[in-house]
Formats: sequence, structure tokens, C-alpha cells
Amino acid sequence: MPFSEFNLIEKYFARPQRAREVDPDIIVGIGDDAALITIPVGMELVVSIDTLVAGVHFLLDTAPTDIGHKVLAVNLSDLAAMGATPRWATLALSLPEIDEAWLSAFSQGFFALAERFGVHLIGGDTTRGPLSVTVQMHGLVAPGQALRRAAAQAGDRIYVTGELGDAGLALRALQGKASLAPDDAPYLLIRLNRPEPRISAGLALSGIAHAAIDISDGLAADLGHILAASRLGATVHLDRLPLSKPVAATVTQSADWSLPLSAGDDYELCFMVPQENEIRLAAVLEQFGCKCTCIGVIEATPGLRWALAGGKLLSYETKGYDHFGCAG
Ligand code: ADP
Ligand code: MG
Repeated sequence: MPFSEFNLIEKYFARPQRAREVDPDIIVGIGDDAALITIPVGMELVVSIDTLVAGVHFLLDTAPTDIGHKVLAVNLSDLAAMGATPRWATLALSLPEIDEAWLSAFSQGFFALAERFGVHLIGGDTTRGPLSVTVQMHGLVAPGQALRRAAAQAGDRIYVTGELGDAGLALRALQGKASLAPDDAPYLLIRLNRPEPRISAGLALSGIAHAAIDISDGLAADLGHILAASRLGATVHLDRLPLSKPVAATVTQSADWSLPLSAGDDYELCFMVPQENEIRLAAVLEQFGCKCTCIGVIEATPGLRWALAGGKLLSYETKGYDHFGCAG
């Protein structure tokens, strides 16, 4: 039976009908030409958008539930890095065909995460084309409280949430470039396919951190963005990097730091805290829901220095994933 675009939206995405009743700020959600929302008085609107393209951002055989989770998670991660509270999402889908099993699984992954963070889907667009999913997230932050990239200061301690390199190792394994111990595989695959947005950490950092960024392209590239925006440098102590056992083992065996530094897809937060706020940081760590590690310090001297355990510097060429990057 042919399935119209309207039916498809009704069946798989119009769930926020209920949500509209619980979020009085949504005046019009799915169903009109555009959504209409009220921005609470005195708040700033935070907006981010991210696209996942099949074969570029996820492997072609990725489970649709995971794609639904991840497209929302990567956007929530951007809001976390701004210290914002996520509220409303729009979703643009480009689908090669109407595959109800795919849609059902995708929407399950999407809404399971949306509900956990109180995010309401208020609209979107559905077209036929190569598989690609885009989410635009809207969130709120108190005036002047957003965590900006350009606000790091010399002397700030550099922190990261969680552990780095897990998703990169899982991707290498799926590409046949690494093998995983059976005990490690499930955890690492979850780290790749179901990243946990660090929203509560981002919110807890309000008034404590000077600057923050989420690590999507690897610590080297993303910390590099903070340094460029803040016109500063940094030293990171490699022996302090929080690594899972399999990532630590891979780094030790290969003496190659690219997994934690450049593989990307971590969606952890990297943030800068002035020394005088470290006591306040310790007091809110419980709210993070993940570990948090001090890995280095912001310095006035430009450049990103990687210190090995004995204090020697590692020469490491910073390369993150760059879609338009040219070889050579
Ligand atoms: P228009 O042609 O006016 O752009 P559409 O047919 O694209 O309208 O969409 C109809 C309604 O369904 C709109 O409210 C739109 O926001 C919503 N919508 C379309 N696709 C999606 C989707 N994938 N997820 C959520 N809402 C969607
Ligand atoms: Mg439209």
C-alpha cells in the first residue's frame, strides 16, 4: 500500500502531540507550515544543527535505532558544550524509500533519548533522496551564561569528561582495522553508536567554567579551536588522559596517540576552569554522571604541547576529521 508523507509523519513523528500539552511554550508543533514557540522571558535561545550522512558519518549497516539516537545526541552534545538546557528539536530526513521497519526503529531511538532530556520534536521535513538525517536543536541559557569557545584564560585548568578514543577504536574494528576482545566489543560499540550527551555536566559548569567545547573531531582539533578562539596555548599531559583499558592498550602497543587525540566521535566535553573555581567544580562533580579528569593547563604561549610521562614533549601533528580536507 502506498504510504503518503503525511501518514508517515503522523505515524512515526507526531508523538509530541502529548508533549505539547506538557510544554506550554509550544504554541504550534508538528502539523502547520512552521512551529511556533514562546521563548521564556529573559532567556537566550541557543541553536545548533548537525547532519549525519550515510557512508560519511555512519556506516551503511548502522542500526536505524542507533542513527535515531546519534543524530539527536550529537546535537545535544553541542548544547551541553554551551551549558544550555535542550528544549525543542526539528528533524529533516532524506530517505531513499519508505521503509517502515527503518522508520519505526529510527523513531524509537530518537524518542527514547528525546524523552530522557525533555526534548520535544516540533517539526521537520521529509524528502526522498540519499539517506541523510539532520536535527536542529533549540535550547535555553540564562543571559551571559553560555560557555563560549573564546573565553579561556591563561592558567585555566583543562578538563575532559568521560574517556577518549572509545568510539574511534570501535570504528576501526568495524572497518576491519583493529580487533576487539569479545569482552570489550559491546561497550565500545555503544560508545560509537549511542554517545551520551553530557547535558548535566554542561549545566553544572555554569558560573564555574570559562569555556567549553564538545569533542566531536578529536581532542587535538577541538581543544585547538578553543586555543584559536581564545588566542592562547596549552600543555596537555598525555599520561593523564582518561582512557578505557582497550584504548590504553592500543596506544601503548602502537605508541600512536591518534585514537584519543584525533579519532573523534567522543562527544565528551573539554572545558576550562580557573584555579579559584576548582573547589566549586569538586562540589558539582556528582551531578556530571560521568568521570571528569584534569589533563592540562592553558598557557599564554601559543601552540598545543603534548607532554609525555617524563615531561618530554611528543611531536604530534594535529589532525581531526575534516570533510573538505585535502591530502598532502
Ligand atoms: P510544508 O510542505 O508546508 O513544508 P511538510 O509537508 O514538509 O509541510 O510538513 C508538514 C508538517 O509535518 C510540518 O509541520 C512539518 O514540520 C512536519 N514534518 C515533516 N517532516 C517531519 C519530520 N521528519 N519530523 C517531524 N515533523 C515533520
Ligand atoms: Mg516542508
